[in-house]
Amino acid sequence: MFEVLITEPIAEEGIALLSQSCKVDRRPLLSPRELAATIGFYDALIVRGRTRVTEEVIEAGKRLKVIARAGAGLDNIDLKAAERKGIVVINAGESVAVAVAELTLGLMLSLARSIPQAHFSVKEGKWEKHSFVGMQLQGKTLGIIGFGRIGRALAKRALALEMKVIAFDPFIPREEALGFGVTLVPLEELLQSSDFVSIHVPLTARTKRMIGWKELSLMKPSAYLINTARGGVVDEVALAQALEEGRIAGAALDVFENEPPLNSPLLKSDRVIFTPHIGASTREAQTLASLEVAKKVLEILRGN
Ligand code: NAD
Repeated sequence: MFEVLITEPIAEEGIALLSQSCKVDRRPLLSPRELAATIGFYDALIVRGRTRVTEEVIEAGKRLKVIARAGAGLDNIDLKAAERKGIVVINAGESVAVAVAELTLGLMLSLARSIPQAHFSVKEGKWEKHSFVGMQLQGKTLGIIGFGRIGRALAKRALALEMKVIAFDPFIPREEALGFGVTLVPLEELLQSSDFVSIHVPLTARTKRMIGWKELSLMKPSAYLINTARGGVVDEVALAQALEEGRIAGAALDVFENEPPLNSPLLKSDRVIFTPHIGASTREAQTLASLEVAKKVLEILRGN
């Protein structure tokens, strides 16, 4: 019988499926050292975003055939070490794309209409109708950085709201984006012409801090930045400074370089809307992600 280790909470549906033919152990949040000491007994490892699957862990996985991320993003897994050992790494990117796109849309509307600020103003007994004159999304330009699953799901929704959508993604053909009604443009042009810039790239050596002072300076002073990808993609110090100086109008962030962002200079800014990394946190996405990884893990363990 195959042995599967799960180190973070995933929806029960996937665990039930695995349990029909595997022995499943749940050991929450092991440190890399603890995980390295344990992993030798398992054929499959299932994590979410908080377990660090380091080279040490992968080297210790003598029986390990597959590492699965029940979500998208693989930046907590040493992919090179896994490749060297011939261990398959999979995720459930398809399952969570709509959830992240919908949160991004919510953040965009929240920025355009100051919904969180208006809510707290009413709770404080105020009625500041004239302070909350916002802007419509219709006719505005959305610039998407990274036109993969989430970028595309967001584009579809933004087009339905009659926005103009442009994207920067050097790894996909122009025609593919055009098929979605989206024009690919260079990053500089995207930054200069967008009313909303939304980031949907993975965190890699190439995308780390790809949005820094220079990029923020290219944006319109009336524009908003949204990051529901990974904190490390944006230079938080440069963003705090750009907001302080009014170089851009505001930002909405679901992800941070350090989570929770206890010492981030951004916490002081009234121009930022924060959410605690809840992009994929819908019941639907979690159920789908757990089932998607369970099915893929079973296929790999059975040699398919
Ligand atoms: P994906 O792999 O489908 O798409 C990523 C796209 O980024 C690809 O089209 C790729 O070509 C492009 N890309 C890569 N490097 C680039 C670069 N340097 N410049 C421009 N484009 C580049 O991934 P996805 O499923 O759309 O997810 C995107 C990211 O969103 C994930 O890697 C993850 O970090 C993040 N995410 C966050 C949450 C959340 O809870 N907030 C949930 C899921 C995913």
